[in-house]
Amino acid sequence: MTALFRLFMALVVPVALVTGAFFVSADTARIPSALRPLLPALPYIFSFAGVGLSWRFKRSRSVFLLLLLAAGCWITTSFLPEAPVSALNVKLGYAATCFLLPVNIAILELLEDRGVFTGWGILHFSVILTQGLAVLLLMTATTLLSPATANSIINAVQQVIYFRLLPEWADSWTYIPQMALVLSGLMIFGLMVHLAVVPAARDAMHGALATTIICTMAGLHHVEQPDLAAMFFSVGALIVTLTLFQESYSMAFADELTGLPGRRALMADCKKLGRKYAIAMCDIDHFKKFNDTYGHDVGDDVLRMVAGHLSRISGGGTAYRYGGEEFTILFPKGTTIDAAPHLDAVREGIARAEFRIRGPLPKKARGKDVVTVTISIGVAERTDEATTPEEVIKVADGLLYKAKKAGRNKVVAG
Ligand code: GH3
Ligand code: MG
Ligand code: MG
Repeated sequence: MTALFRLFMALVVPVALVTGAFFVSADTARIPSALRPLLPALPYIFSFAGVGLSWRFKRSRSVFLLLLLAAGCWITTSFLPEAPVSALNVKLGYAATCFLLPVNIAILELLEDRGVFTGWGILHFSVILTQGLAVLLLMTATTLLSPATANSIINAVQQVIYFRLLPEWADSWTYIPQMALVLSGLMIFGLMVHLAVVPAARDAMHGALATTIICTMAGLHHVEQPDLAAMFFSVGALIVTLTLFQESYSMAFADELTGLPGRRALMADCKKLGRKYAIAMCDIDHFKKFNDTYGHDVGDDVLRMVAGHLSRISGGGTAYRYGGEEFTILFPKGTTIDAAPHLDAVREGIARAEFRIRGPLPKKARGKDVVTVTISIGVAERTDEATTPEEVIKVADGLLYKAKKAGRNKVVAG
């Protein structure tokens, strides 16, 4: 369920924006008149705002994605409308752009954020720039050559670019070459499949990549209506920029290692509590020894496993990573009596879970490739003595200490 929810969240904003853009493009009278004079500048405003954010968040892929969108918009809205798309040289430059943009965007899926002013970033930038220069060359050089040579070059390039796999109706409604449509369709499909089957890819950035290809192709399609082209490129850049905000939210509130909400989220949620609630503090037993025996990486895997169990707690509880190997479970409407059976069930689930270690075992751990861990829990509720969440946490901490003293793998309720 949470996996599906994450898939939904990754796509809901971009898909809503793209749908809105198509709705407006069906009838240009739907563009709000106040927005009209701004429209040509909008793609660049969103792109450069996004580049600034990407920079701060060290997301070099978004920097490249926004630069591609801004360049695509510039080519489509200022360069192409100067000459009719039917002019052969312009047609070729346009057609090449239709291939290059979706491919360059989809490739970002395979790359990592490795900086802009690093060797890798400069190489990436040079590759994009070279493509842009090649397109410009294709559009201008042919006008400098003798008509006969230009024609033979144009014919040869046309043969490749306008190759058709499907009947003519598949592309007769657009200037975009048929193979560019097929290619971008395949890339969008590939990105969606990746998003659906790889849980780690179900984030806002992956959702943005697939939808910005749709915006790019829609922008290119409207080459003769620069306002609409600008609108689609704006929506693309807006999606990327919103994605960065979404990511900054999860950077602030989610714990990276376990995926659980972190301490900051706990503190924010504590402010929303009423007069009746219970808070449990959980701590993994003998975890230092576990790390010493199996190594820190296996320790991290065990932390994820424990977090997974805690996240599925019943009884209306929400689990947070408090820090290190300590977790907090908040029952916003419960008492310790309500919460205790649910906590005991999760404690037992963890104690019973067998964790199989993959890869080579350290010397100390030979022959022990199936391990188990236990957790101790202290749970307290709001009382007349402990009236604030901070005080309740302190009481729960004391009870956790009692659970440890009493032999660990226990729940002690206050
Ligand atoms: P006790 O049963 O009394 O809780 O014993 P303990 O060894 O778990 O106690 P203590 O709190 O002293 O040790 C916590 C250990 O948790 C120390 C550190 O090695 C480990 N730890 C904390 N954060 C992480 C983490 O993010 N990853 C890993 N692998 N280990 C962590
Ligand atoms: Mg501890
Ligand atoms: Mg511990």
